[in-house]
Amino acid sequence: MDAEKLKASVTSKVDSQSQQLRELALKIHSNPELGFHEVKAAEWLTGYLEGNGFSIERGICEMPTAFKASYGKGKPAIAILAEYDALPDVGHACGHNLIATCAVGAGVASKPVIDQFGGSILVIGTPAEETFGGKVIMANKGAFNNLDTAMIVHPCTHDIATIQALALQGITVEFFGKAAHAAAQPEKGINALEAMIQSFNAINSLRQHIKSTARIHGIITDGGEAANIVPAHSAGSFMVRAEEDAYLDELKEKVINCFIGASTASGARLQYKWDDVRYSPMRNNLPLAELYIQNMESLGRRVELYEPEGRGTGSTDMGNVSQLVPSIHPHVAITEEEILIHSPEFALAAASEAGIKGMLDAAKAVAMTVVDLVANPETLTKVKEEFKQGK
Ligand SMILES: [Zn+2]
Ligand SMILES: [Zn+2]
Repeated sequence: MDAEKLKASVTSKVDSQSQQLRELALKIHSNPELGFHEVKAAEWLTGYLEGNGFSIERGICEMPTAFKASYGKGKPAIAILAEYDALPDVGHACGHNLIATCAVGAGVASKPVIDQFGGSILVIGTPAEETFGGKVIMANKGAFNNLDTAMIVHPCTHDIATIQALALQGITVEFFGKAAHAAAQPEKGINALEAMIQSFNAINSLRQHIKSTARIHGIITDGGEAANIVPAHSAGSFMVRAEEDAYLDELKEKVINCFIGASTASGARLQYKWDDVRYSPMRNNLPLAELYIQNMESLGRRVELYEPEGRGTGSTDMGNVSQLVPSIHPHVAITEEEILIHSPEFALAAASEAGIKGMLDAAKAVAMTVVDLVANPETLTKVKEEFKQGK
């Protein structure tokens, strides 16, 4: 079968699964599970893949809700990634139920390509995107080694093939002072809260002189016990983000200096710990993004290559995957522009007709991209060349 016929065959394989994928997406949506607790979702998704001829490894990377499902053998090894964690209170307000069903739908639809040309298709279940950066941990444990490409499609308000995502590392900070009566003997106390407030002020001053794309933000998690006691302890948690890893390192040092300065000025002892998980910036593979655009546009969607100027960016653990393997993380529109992601309205969209349609279209585009990569080795070579050059 030639590539065009194969593309028609994989899209019809998504259509023939549409009822099951819809049910699966809605079932995960109505059973929201937080990061590392996605037990039901992982079970349903692996069950679906197993029933469709995939071999399953459950609990990979010592994470009970991570999995690797594979069909076929050897190279090329094309991965489609799934997320399925929800948020507290608002449930599937990031639409990860749709990411998951897009991945399994595209994986199952891609089987004829593997049957004809060889290689393997992998659906990799990656827990806890929202909270603990599951993919960062999995990347460090080698889960994405030996892959040729990786794709994941996230629901959103626009159709965009590439995303910007910042490098990010969090830090928890504590100051230890000395309690005293705040009115009777304030001179005997060391005020740990003032050290924290000075840290915020120093960071606010620093912010005037950093690159406009970098971000530093934090909260106070302990600010003392009572107004008449000089706070002996304060604690806060901060995040530092930058476009490039090198600039993140530079900023981290400057931020630490803000805490050290506040500690020296107040006399409160400083203790801090950087998070073990560090998010890398997203490297978008442009040839892969172009294939996705062509395939998505063949379904009648208009897809931009880049996000519009001025749209905010966060961070994602897909960034770490994209540093190891040629990757894309497109956004598929499932609702209007005004709807905010992580809001109750977005959670409704993730279970709406437009949500299901977006998920099915994305699954088709991903499966058609698998056709491009596997049926035409030159395409994959181009994708890999671009990745090498970018190193
Ligand atoms: Zn989210
Ligand atoms: Zn998300």
